[in-house]
Amino acid sequence: MIVIERVSELREHCDRARAQGRSVGLVPTMGFFHAGHRSLMRAARAENDLVVVTLFVNPTQFAPGEDLSRYPRDLEGDRSAAEIEGVDMLFVPPVEEVYPDGPPRTTVHVAGLTEGMCGVGRPTHFDGVTTVVAKLFSIVGPCTAYFGRKDYQQVAVITRMTRDLELPVKVVSRPLVREPDGLAMSSRNAYLDAEQRSAALVLHQALTAVADAVRDGERDASRLCDAVRAAVAEVPQVRLEYVEARDARTLELVERITDDTVLALAAQVGRTRLIDNVVLHTAGSAVEADLGMVIHEELS
Ligand code: AMP
Repeated sequence: MIVIERVSELREHCDRARAQGRSVGLVPTMGFFHAGHRSLMRAARAENDLVVVTLFVNPTQFAPGEDLSRYPRDLEGDRSAAEIEGVDMLFVPPVEEVYPDGPPRTTVHVAGLTEGMCGVGRPTHFDGVTTVVAKLFSIVGPCTAYFGRKDYQQVAVITRMTRDLELPVKVVSRPLVREPDGLAMSSRNAYLDAEQRSAALVLHQALTAVADAVRDGERDASRLCDAVRAAVAEVPQVRLEYVEARDARTLELVERITDDTVLALAAQVGRTRLIDNVVLHTAGSAVEADLGMVIHEELS
């Protein structure tokens, strides 16, 4: 595996690979790798000739007062995890390499999909994400890019951006990966103390109860969201920011669970913001609830 810092170098490697008829797989990340990131690297490895992982804690997607300065970092650990997963190239650019002229004057904004859900509490976040991902897509060029459904809204927004701008990238979403006790894996889980961590389990428990209720025939979105609110209210350390049922593709609010719906939430546990979701596919009385998966095997 090679570690590179220069945009021009990354572009050259990707262009050369494609000129040789090799396919390119891209996994954009902010580092501090866990099994969720690694599942994306594995998928990219299985399906492509050249696997590129980018590790960039993108300042423009953090608002003032958010956790940019304390975001967890472990370059050595990340380097060895990526190596174990068979990654070919780890792109770790300094901020000045990505934004040589200061903050970008050009912004990619995906209207509609970015305004609700996490967009309410983080109104500038998605423009930072789409702008940097568009930039990565431009540098890497035609490729397959892998994203996790933990950040469900993010994948929907990036998918729409890619279609709207005809970017030559196939966007693939992969399952949400959980800790064995159900907590959605996140680099931000490192902020939680033991008590907060166990309090945070209510989020997964509440979503599991949603899946059960839908399997039992409940289709009313507000009743399902109320049940989540009631469960979370039992745990004083956890403050729910939102819980909503939305069309799984357009992210429009829905009143009933029909076909493909995502029931997503965000919550604050102490100073840590966590997100989680369940994707519900219904066809008549048949229900498939996608809560993601636990990776049991030892990864390192
Ligand atoms: P991040 O480093 O948090 O920006 O995440 C980089 C990529 O990993 C994004 O596509 C995330 O959706 C994905 N990811 C983060 N956590 C998980 C998880 N628990 N399961 C699956 N994918 C994840």
